[in-house]
This record gives sequence, structure tokens and C-alpha cells, in this order.
Amino acid sequence: MSLFNTPENSSIHGQFSPSPEETSRRSNWFGNKVFNQDRMLQNLTREAYESVNNAIQTGSKIDRKIADQVAEAMKTWAISMGATHYTHWFQPLTGATAEKHDAFLDLLPDGKAIEKFGGSQLVQQEPDASSFPSGGIRNTFEARGYTAWDPTSPAFVYGSTLCIPTIFVSYTGEALDNKAPLLRALQAVDTAATAVARYFDKNVNKVNATLGWEQEYFLVDAELAATRPDLVLAGRTLLGQAAAKGQQLDDHYFGVIPSRALQFMRELETECILLGIPVKTRHNEVAPNQYELAPVFEEANLAVDHNLLLMDVMEKVAEKHGLKVLFHEKPFAGINGSGKHNNWSLSTDTGTNLLSPGSTPMKNLQFLTFFVNTIRAVDRFEALLRASIASASNDYRLGANEAPPAIMSIFIGTQLSQVLDELEGVSRGKLSPEEKTELKLNVVGKIPEILLDNTDRNRTSPFAFTGNKFEFRAVGSKTNCAKPMTVLNTIVALQLQEFKSEVDTLIEKKKLKKDEAIFNVLREYIKASKRIRFDGDGYSDAWAAEAGRRKLSNNRATPQALEVLTSPETLEAFKRMGVMTETELRARREVELETYILQTQIEGRVLHELVYGSVIPATIKYQNRLLENIRGMKEVYGAVHKELAEAQLTLLEDLASHLQEVKKHTDAMTEARKQANKLKDVADRAGAYCNSVLPYFEQIRLHADKLERLLGQEDWPLARYRELLFVK
Ligand code: ADP
Ligand code: MG
Repeated sequence: MSLFNTPENSSIHGQFSPSPEETSRRSNWFGNKVFNQDRMLQNLTREAYESVNNAIQTGSKIDRKIADQVAEAMKTWAISMGATHYTHWFQPLTGATAEKHDAFLDLLPDGKAIEKFGGSQLVQQEPDASSFPSGGIRNTFEARGYTAWDPTSPAFVYGSTLCIPTIFVSYTGEALDNKAPLLRALQAVDTAATAVARYFDKNVNKVNATLGWEQEYFLVDAELAATRPDLVLAGRTLLGQAAAKGQQLDDHYFGVIPSRALQFMRELETECILLGIPVKTRHNEVAPNQYELAPVFEEANLAVDHNLLLMDVMEKVAEKHGLKVLFHEKPFAGINGSGKHNNWSLSTDTGTNLLSPGSTPMKNLQFLTFFVNTIRAVDRFEALLRASIASASNDYRLGANEAPPAIMSIFIGTQLSQVLDELEGVSRGKLSPEEKTELKLNVVGKIPEILLDNTDRNRTSPFAFTGNKFEFRAVGSKTNCAKPMTVLNTIVALQLQEFKSEVDTLIEKKKLKKDEAIFNVLREYIKASKRIRFDGDGYSDAWAAEAGRRKLSNNRATPQALEVLTSPETLEAFKRMGVMTETELRARREVELETYILQTQIEGRVLHELVYGSVIPATIKYQNRLLENIRGMKEVYGAVHKELAEAQLTLLEDLASHLQEVKKHTDAMTEARKQANKLKDVADRAGAYCNSVLPYFEQIRLHADKLERLLGQEDWPLARYRELLFVK
């Protein structure tokens, strides 16, 4: 295997020697640390292998004896991979992942040490998880929660720990995590989409939702970052004067990757490939020190796990390279923030992408069916989709003229718009032979050609059709994709179920042919969901006004956006699809509101600390130096000193006025927090944080940044934007 024909070993990158893994094909060691299908085949009896496979395919139960066998095989393999501990790896509602490590080590009655890991430890665990947020579920029901093995996402060895992906539920069955509802939503969309796909192909038995995320992030020098309390505690800068140079030259975007970042990426990719995360692209993003990484898409549950694992691996690898990764949606003011596009589609067990047009009119009708139903679903539940990505940090990005606005809309391009416009004109009831031929040849038949030369792309749309998938672009870089994926798959499942029943009714009651019935229902959906389609500039004020006329929601702040989580329509949709109960939805809304409050509260405290701990003392020190200087001038020059020290005197006044403002707003902010904290109701409290605490942040920042400009390099105690963004 030659090392010298890959781009990173070409002259500019030749200074790095490849790791042992890098010297062989990635496909050879892909997933080496994963207990995947191959490893199960090698290590399990046929009976156990089939039982696990069945559980993966159909959700069937695995009996205790088999679980023991699987656990034994997993343990032996994991120990051979250097594992000493195991953990149930789960996704509490805090958004990150959680783990509690237990050693394999156990003692026999005679005191002899053995390595033990049985079926019961594999299948179920009771973490002492009482301090994970539950939105009151555990208080109302049962104090304990337990984690349960998700065999659809393979176990893996991470460091020296065998990680077993699990769901986290209460003893009364309520989901306490983000994975359990996702699995239910994927089940719902599988059932509904399979039923519809069978109109077109009787061989379809399963439909998987697919997800390809694109992770954006910043890399900053770890030592510099450590000097900033805001980066350490809030993950973003709360203060900071813009650097003289920002992203205006566009010289970072897709440019040569700086060498420390590249070394980080290479090690990261090696680790990802070993963990079975199929990383594919890496490049610089728009802002300085901003990058993106994207994998090949996968089944949605696995893709979600891989994204969460990736974020963890990134933090660890970055540390080794003296870097800190920032996943915050808006770590720096004045330059682009980070998102995590979610590319989504539906794919059958016969290998068909249901959002990909095909070579025959029937395939294209299938495409149109799933395409139009998705549009209809998003139209009906646009506010819910917005809620699925709501967070304090994503509020800084949505609608800030660099990311899609908080208004949900769908871009499909002019040519597909034309197709839908024509379909709107399809006759009611039975179609004449001429109309059928016309539809076949000139409307439906033209779709593949259209898509091939469909070059119009719209980067300002939050939900865009991109040829064979939809791309949800408003997802935040920190967000757990499970949340938007749960909502999207649930609403599409509901929509497809209704579609199926409408089509079947037309076939039975009105004696329409299948394709006639489908055209009839699609026509009505196209008419009904026109308001969600928008191909223009999503960043413009004109669109916000137009969206208002169309009665689309525009919830710019999280507390407001979350309201819809408990609306009658939402409760009904989740209940019908069996994804979440009213209790679970109420709990989720409460946890999201609490998280919003806590994050804003932390930022408020950090700001106070920055102002009183750094900004004020630094300013006063500088004022004293100026005063000393002016006094000296007076001593030497007497009365004329005022003229000679004019610069110092005006500087003193400027400093004093900004100092007063900074202090005034900081004190007012602290007072506003006190008032907000007194509110009993969590929604009221979140509202108060949003409307009466948050506005002070900008005011404080405005004056603190002015002070930063006035203070000299050695007088300003915090790392500056210039250093954070341009030290590579
Ligand atoms: P960009 O949005 O940056 O222009 P692409 O259009 O090439 O990039 O999209 C790339 C992303 O789309 C990748 O992460 C890829 O895995 C994902 N993707 C491609 N096909 C599908 C699919 N059928 N389902 C889900 N994701 C997909
Ligand atoms: Mg993209």
C-alpha cells in the first residue's frame, strides 16, 4: 500500500508520518472496535446470532439464556480488545451522553478473582441516575429508572470500556432519554412507510429512516481558551471585541487545513474508523478556525449514536493536540456560528431510496408520494419541527443572517415546483386515458431529467430538497439529532398513515384505480401545503413579513418555541403514533425549559464574574496609570498640562463612562435574575430569563468591548478574538 499518493502525504502535508492504521486501507480496519455483525458471526452460536439479528430486524425479545451467551461472547471479545470495564451508554435529557463504568472483575466465594459479565448485566442496569433531569416523571411515578440494551446499535470498545448503547426509562415505562422516543418514532415510520411503499413494490418489508449529519465546530488553542471563563463554563465568548480581520476575505473557507488541525483530524478519523463511524469529508468552514466533518449516511438510530460518540471522541482527541473543540452554535459574535445539517431520507429493505426519482413512471409516482407527504407533514407540524431544535444556544444562530431563520419553510426548486403545480390541475375522480398518458409522459416522466440538471440550490432554506433527500439545516451544532429525528419521523409516519387510509377509501368506495387514487390525494395535499413552500431568500425581512401573512410560526426564542410541545395537536400526533405520552411530552417541555433557564443563568453568572473579576479591575488599573501620568504632567508643566495631556484626559472620561455603563447593566442584570428566580412556574421563569435577563447581555457586552478597545495589550486580562481565532 503506497503512502505517497494520498493528498495528505503530498508535499505540503509530508511532514506528518502516518499512524500504523493509516498505512493500510481504511476498509480493512473499519469497525475493528465494534461488536458488529461479523464479530457476532465469529463469536456467537448460530442460535444466538439469529436471535440477536431477529431482535435487530423485528424488535423481537431476546431470551435470558441467549443474552447470557451474547454477554459472554461480548466480554471475551472486549477483553481481547483491552477492555477492563463495561458501561451502559445512554442519552439523558441533558443532551449529552452518560455512562457509569463497572469493572468486569468479580470475586468467587473462595476469594478468587474472575472476569464476569452476564446476560442480566448486558440487558438491564439500574444506574443511580436520580440527578438526571426527568421533568418530574420520577417524582410522580417511581423513583428509579433503568437502562435497557438497544441491540440495533452495536456495542463498542472505547478506550478501555465496553460501551453498550441503551435506552433509559422509568419503571413505569416512561422514556427518560432521547433514544427511546427515537426508536419508537423509527418504528412508526417503518410501519407507515412500508404500508405505502407496498403500493409500488410488494417485496418491501421494512423501511429505514436514514440520517447523514454534517458536524460543524471550532478549534481553538486550549491554553488560550482556558484563560476565558466564558469559554470554559458557557462554551461561548460572552465578551470580545471583533478582531481587525474576520471572515471577510473568505480565505479560510475550503482553504488548506492548518497543520495542527489536520493532525487532530487525522487522529480523529483513525479513531472514528476503528469505532465504525464512516467519516468521509473534512474541510474548513466559513469562519476562521471553523471546520466541518461529515460521514456517509446511516440508519438514523445508528447515525445519532455515532454523532454523539463522535462529539465525545473529538473532545478527547483535541485535548491531546492542545486544542479545545467548541460545539456551541455561536461561540463568537460577528462571525458565523455552527450548525449540524440533518440529511434525511427513507430507504427500503429492497434497496430503494424512497425520495429518489426512478427510471419508470411508477417509480416516480412513488417518489412523488413520499415527497409530497413529507411536505404536507412539515406544513402541518412546522412549529413542532422548530421546537425540536430549540435551545438557548441555537437561538443565537437561527435568524442571525447566516443560518436559516426560525421560520420553517421548504425549498424544492423551480422545476419540482412546476411539477407540483401541474399535479394540482389533475382532474377529480377517474382520469381520462389522455390525462393519464399526459401525466405519465410529461409530468411524472420528466422528473429524473429535471433532477439531473436541477442546479438551483438555496442555502437560506431551513428544510431543502437536495435531489434525493431532504436537508434540515436549522439543527444546532450541539443538538442531539435524536430530537429533530424523533419529530420528523413521527410526523411523516402520521402523514403516511393518513395518506394510506385516504387512498384506500378512494379505491374501495369510489372504485378508483390505485394510481388515480394516489393522484387525487396528492393533489389535495399539494393544494393544502402551499404556504410551507418558499424558494426565495429566507434571510430577508420580506420573507418574515410574508411568512406572517401565511400564518407560519416565527418563534425566535426557545421558551416560546417550546409551547407547541404540549399543544393538543402535538399530544394527539405523538399518542397516535405511539411515540410519546402526554406525561413524556410535558416532562420534556419542562426539562427543555429548565435547561434554557440554567444555561442562561450560568451565562449571567459568568458575565458577572467577567465584569467584576476582569473588566472592572483592569479598567481601574489603567485609569490609575493614566491619573498618575496626568499628575506627573501637572507637576512638570503646571497649568499647561491640561493641553498637553488632552489625550489622557479624554481617555479617562471614556473609560469612566463605559465603566459606569458596564457596572450599571451588570447590576441590573443580576437584579433581573433575582426577580426571575422568584417565579414558581417554570415557563414564567424561562420567559423572564428570555425577556428581562437576556437583553442585558448585549448592553454589558457593548460597553465591555469598548473598554477592551481602549485598553492596551498588556492591560487587557482576557485572550482576545484575534488570538482565539487566528492562532492555529
Ligand atoms: P452539502 O450539503 O455540504 O452540499 P451533500 O449534498 O453532498 O453536501 O450532502 C452530504 C450529506 O448528505 C452527507 O452527510 C451524506 O451522508 C448525506 N446523504 C446523502 N444521501 C443521503 C440519504 N439518502 N439519506 C440521508 N443522508 C444522505
Ligand atoms: Mg449540507
